[in-house]
Parts: sequence; C-alpha cells; structure tokens
Amino acid sequence: MRSQFLKLKKQLRRSFTDAELEVVRTAYRVAGEAHHGQTRLSGEPYIMHSLSVAQNLAALGLDPVTCAAGLLHDVLEDTSVTQAELQSQFGEEITLLVDGVTKISSFSFPDPNVTHEIKQAQNIRKMLVATAKDVRVILIKLADRLHNIRTLEYLRKDKRIRIARETLDIYAPMAHRLGISQWKWELEDHAFHHLRPDDYRAIARQVAMRRRTREAQLVEVIQFLEKRLAEAEVTAHVIGRPKHLYGIYQKMVQQGKDFHEVMDIQAIRIISQTEAGCYNALGAVHSLWTPIPGRLKDYIAMPKLNMYQAIHTTVMGDNARPLEIQIRSEEMDKTAREGIAAHWHYKEGEANKDKKLDTHLDWLRQMYGWLKDAHAPEELMDSMRRDFGMSHIYVFSPKGEVKELPPGATPLDFAYLIHSDVGHQCMGARVNGRMVPLRYHLQMGDVVEVLTSRNQTPHLDWVDIVVTGRARTRIRQRLRDLGMLPTVDDPVHHPDYEGDVPKTRPRSAPPRPIREVDEATRQNLVRIEGDKGLEVQFAKCCNPMPGHPLIGYITKKTGISVHRADCKSFAKSARDGDRIVEANWEGEGLFETTLHVEIGQRPNVLADLTNALRPTNIDILRAEYQVGEDGFGYFDFTIETSSHGAVNRIMRTLEAVTGVVAVAREKKKTEPSLNLAEAG
Ligand code: MN
Repeated sequence: MRSQFLKLKKQLRRSFTDAELEVVRTAYRVAGEAHHGQTRLSGEPYIMHSLSVAQNLAALGLDPVTCAAGLLHDVLEDTSVTQAELQSQFGEEITLLVDGVTKISSFSFPDPNVTHEIKQAQNIRKMLVATAKDVRVILIKLADRLHNIRTLEYLRKDKRIRIARETLDIYAPMAHRLGISQWKWELEDHAFHHLRPDDYRAIARQVAMRRRTREAQLVEVIQFLEKRLAEAEVTAHVIGRPKHLYGIYQKMVQQGKDFHEVMDIQAIRIISQTEAGCYNALGAVHSLWTPIPGRLKDYIAMPKLNMYQAIHTTVMGDNARPLEIQIRSEEMDKTAREGIAAHWHYKEGEANKDKKLDTHLDWLRQMYGWLKDAHAPEELMDSMRRDFGMSHIYVFSPKGEVKELPPGATPLDFAYLIHSDVGHQCMGARVNGRMVPLRYHLQMGDVVEVLTSRNQTPHLDWVDIVVTGRARTRIRQRLRDLGMLPTVDDPVHHPDYEGDVPKTRPRSAPPRPIREVDEATRQNLVRIEGDKGLEVQFAKCCNPMPGHPLIGYITKKTGISVHRADCKSFAKSARDGDRIVEANWEGEGLFETTLHVEIGQRPNVLADLTNALRPTNIDILRAEYQVGEDGFGYFDFTIETSSHGAVNRIMRTLEAVTGVVAVAREKKKTEPSLNLAEAG
C-alpha cells in the first residue's frame, strides 16, 4: 500500500512541489481511514483501487487536486464520509469533483429499445452535459473504469459482461471523444477480452506468432524511411504502430477481412519536431512510394473534434503491400495520446505560475459554443452522426439546450418534449427566427422557439401531426380530460371512436378534489417522470396535496423538490429548465412502464396479444419481439398509463392469453445501472 502511495508521489513530484502534494497526502489518509476494513473482490484492500485511480490520473499528467479527488472518488458512495465533511476538509473543488463522479455512477441509462448507436450517443451526451462544469469528473470516472476493467476477472460472469459492454458502449467512446487514445485502447482491449474471449485469444495468438517476422519487416521500413527523411533534412523519428487486438477484430468484422489481410497492412508513424516538418515528411513519403488515391487526410489543417491532429496517408509500399503512415509533430503526438489531459500539463518552469487549472478548456468551450451557436451546429452534429451513426436529429431551444427527436418531428413534438403543458398550450413556433406551421418538419440544428398561450388546448388533428409516442399519448390524454375523446376505461360507450372525430362535445376538465393526506401517503402517491431514483421532498412554500398539479425540480443537494405547478416562489427560483421534471399524482398524468412477456412459440401469438390489448385502448410507445435461443418468444413493450392499477390490469389481460408463460414488469432500478459498487 505504502509503496503504491510512494509510486504516486514519485509520479507527481516530476511536475509538482511538495507543498502542492500536501492535498494528496491528506486525501490518502482520509480515504484510507474511510475505506478501512473494506476489501475488493480480488482480496486487496479497497484503498488499492483508490490509489490505482489516482496513479492513472497522475500518469496522464493531471494535477494533485485531481489526483486527490481520484483517491477520494468512492468515499461518498461507499463509506460513511459525508459531503459536508469533504467540504470542510478539502473545500469546494474536490467536493464537486467527487460528487460529480458519484453522480455519474447513479445515472441510469434506460430506454432499452433504441438502437445501440443512439443509446451510445445519448449516454455520451448525458455525461457531457452533466459534467459540463468540470471535465475532470469524466477523467476521474475513466481512470476508475480503467482500473475496474483491469481487475474484472474477479467478478461474476454476468457482471463482467455488463461492465465490459458498458465500457465499449460508453467509456471507450468517451475516452475517444476526449482524445485520450491510450485509455481508449486499453479500455477496448480489456472489454473485448471479456466479451469475446475466444476471438480475443485467437487474435492474440496469431499476433504473437507473427510478431517476429512483422517486427523484422517493420524495422527494415523504418530504417529506410529514417535515412530518407534525414537526407531530405526533416528532423523526425519513425516508429511502428502497435495494432490493438480490438482494432484488428473491428477491421475483420466491419471490413470483412481475414486476419492476414488486416495484418498485411503495415502501419508506421512519423513524428517530426515541427508542424512544417510534417508536410516535408509527407513530401518525402510520396516521392518514395505511390500514394493510394483518396487516402490522404490532413487533420492538421482540419483537426478532429477531439483535437486530434495528424496527416494520414496510405502508400503502395515495397512488394506491393499497403503501408499506412501517420505524420504528426511531437506536440500533436502528445495530444493524440493524452487528449484533453495533454492541455493541462504544466510545462517545465511553469509549475508554480498557474495553480488553478483551467477547467473550461478550449475544446469544451468549442463544443458548447457549437451547441449554442445557431449557425454552426451542423458541423458538430455531422461529426456526431459520423461518429455514432445516429438516425435522430438534434434541435435547440433558444437557450441552446439540445433536444433529440426522430426525423420528421414537428414543433409540437418539441413542445411536448419540453413539458406537457408547453405542448398543450402551444400556439405556434418560430424556427430559426421565422414562424413555421405546426406541421413543419424540424431539421438537424434548427433553433425552435415555442409560442404558448394559457387559453390554448390541444386540437384533435394534433394527434396526426406529431410523430413521437410521447406527444401523441399526452395529447390523447388531454383530449380525454377535456371530454373530446372517449376515456380509456370506457371505450365501449364510444363505438364511434376508431381514431375518427368523436361525437361527444368538448367540455372543460373537471377540477380535481384536493385531499389532505399524511406524509407517508403523500410520498406514496407522488410519481416522478422517468423515476430519477432521487429522494422526493415536498416544498414547504406551497405544500402540495393530492389533486394539486405538480412540478418537480432537481435541487443542488441530491433530491427532487416537488412544488405545486402554480407555486409563485417556485416560478421565481427555478431558472434552470434542464432541472425541471414532471411530477404527477398516482392516477393523474402519464408514466411509462415496460413490460416483458415470455411466450411459447405458436402461430399467431403476436396477433392474439395485440388483440387482447386493443380494448384497453392503451398507447404502446415501443415494442420489440425476439425469439430466444430457447425457442421462446420475448415481447417487450413500453406503455404509457396514468396509474399502476391500469398496468396491473394489462398484465392480467396478457397473462390470460394462451401461450403466454410469464408477464413481468421492468423492475425499477433501486440500484442504478451504472453503479459499480461491486467493481469498486
Ligand atoms: Mn471506484
């Protein structure tokens, strides 16, 4: 333990003074005491994990404050240390970092029905937004994951798979986004190892078998090239580029190549002292070998979003084998390996000059600048789309908040995405400053401003205008409340209703009776949209009781404060739209539930299920049907209802269908899905 701490200190001493290391010493002591007696599944004392995380951060050149936060990253979640104690002992900066890391762990990433790519983009964006104030939070989280995945073998198989999957889906792309290629590769290779052990071993074996011949060939190319570069008076050195196992596997799968084809391509990197040297080197390379058309990419002139800079080219090498060449300066090389962290390094002699880290880096500023700039989001969006193959569009609120919608979405969909009431009261919309019809199809990057009026109510034709299930069910619900559509529970009395205009006349919604209840009942009856898993507190200022329309607000101190929707002091204090959440009483409003149905295979079973559901008049938001390896059918679908009773009725209806083996409701995660307590 002690020796690991000494190693950490040694890493940091290269760039920092003893005085600056004081905070690391204190953090080590506090974390050591807090985790005392806890062990990892590997049998190691828990503090070894904290130390490894701090070492990962130090290796990336991060400062003592970040390393101290790394040592403390699990104390809020896993020990009795409180936020207040951290605050008094370490101050604001470290507390915010540790708290941020703890919060990421508690994100849940629901919505299992969207495609893999969208989910990935969503999660990355969520993480970016949540940590916008200080990107070091993500760096600590990544350092944490790096150590966890290195020690994954101690976990149960299902947990290993989940964590490995999540690493490939979220953390490796995040490392890539931040430009930290050395972490990205390591995360990917470990995850690959656990997810596809056979493929991993096969590739590793073949790589090992060919290593010697490969290296010999590379040395030849490298020496030849270095000589020619020297002749051309370019100061540079040439290195062979290691191939990462997961990278090889990806090429094999994505490009349909076999192992030998992938390995046949030699890859080298030229690192020159200066930027000008890069272009000179390129000239030298292209005069030695024939460049393959279409393969020259100048990321120096056009850096990637993650700050990556280099020139890439592929040439036809000797004995007609393609040779991939990356050319970059030493500085670019550092950025390529360490990404965003490279820009935090203290340069020699500057160690004492600027103690405070600039947490709002250019890269992040650029990113958020893009998000806010009405004219340039296409660039960011295109790049995100390229990176993640997304099929959704992103639009912006006038304040620059990003909202995600399916293609074809209208301003009404946007309005309902913000809040049901914004949707209900939508009068019209301005897109990029111009009035548009409600049927307008939003485009990637549009800035959408919703115009509302308190006197507005949904129209019947809105149901056909919107494309999102969320907006549609909310409109229907409101129309039912207004008596403009038959109610869910009473469809039989409206045989005229099949999506056509009903014959009932509109009437205003009856006011709901207000009931005084005790605290426990009140807590039981309140429902937070999307169930954030946070503690709910009722605001004292307006003391909401069942029957009052509600609004929720995520407070700075963990929790959701629930006010009456018309609360005046709420209207004054709540300025951050991102923190407003919908809250409803049981039986009012709508919430989503996902049901899993297991069915024995037989003809028409899906048709029978849908028929059984039809009289319930329930809105199905998403549905997915798969046949498992066991031959059973699995039907997962998400519905929106206003009460748990309705969900239970639907479950009983489905259970009665012949062939249905089991109906289960998706468990509300008491344990957040990203909680890595078991991994540390
Ligand atoms: Mn941890």
